[in-house]
Amino acid sequence: MERDIKLPGKCPVCGSKLVRDPEEVALRCGNVTCPAQTKEAVLHFASRKAMDIDGMGDAIVNQLVDKALIKDYGDIYTLKTEDIMKLDRMAQKSASNLIEAIDRSRSNDLNRLIYGLGIRHVGERAAWVLAEVFGSIEKLKKTTTNELTKIRDIGPVAAGSVIDFFANKENISVVTKLEAAGLKMTPPRKEAFAKLAGKTVVITGTLKSMSRQEAEDLVRRLGGNASSSVTNKTDILVAGEESGSKLEKARALGVRVVTEDEFKKITG
Ligand SMILES: [Zn+2]
Repeated sequence: MERDIKLPGKCPVCGSKLVRDPEEVALRCGNVTCPAQTKEAVLHFASRKAMDIDGMGDAIVNQLVDKALIKDYGDIYTLKTEDIMKLDRMAQKSASNLIEAIDRSRSNDLNRLIYGLGIRHVGERAAWVLAEVFGSIEKLKKTTTNELTKIRDIGPVAAGSVIDFFANKENISVVTKLEAAGLKMTPPRKEAFAKLAGKTVVITGTLKSMSRQEAEDLVRRLGGNASSSVTNKTDILVAGEESGSKLEKARALGVRVVTEDEFKKITG
């Protein structure tokens, strides 16, 4: 017999409205500044595929939050070298390196920032699409469900998540901090959008002229989908040096295999 379990409507920690996640049974707090999820949200924001803030790992984030130097990821940009120096075993050099990494991230492309916001169900690909379609956080903030669901590649679940995210006033305040911090928030480069449109590309092995991350960013900028595993849906495998099992699998599946030089020709 099914029991009717009464769920609270508000987060017990911050009082924000809880959001029902269609893919999970539980209700989640939809406030990225909620103390119950600050650390996780900051780590995601700083992660390699989001704002890529080198040196902003677990140990640093834990201390920044525990010592109340930041309350949410919007506060990262107000940190000074002296603040970082207050952390355990932090040398002047590493502190200024971290500040430099934070500064560098201000000029990231908009897709990284949108991904970094940590909107549920908005992965790298969806973030790229939203950046491409809206071109600014300002416009994205004002979007409607109707507008979002018309976008190919944005499903109803992701659309609902975007709406919930910007309906939360705490989230709006953190986005406002980011705007005040002078983040560049420019859309991804558009010129060659169609070159890899709809193509799923896997990069394997070591590339000589770029890192795998850079190659994957390039694929996304050109409208493709960068994936890490070879399946029968893979269109192109870029095989760098010392390609192993992925190359074998691609050949077995009849996936088009290109060298790094050929990849550079394709992407121009
Ligand atoms: Zn909460």
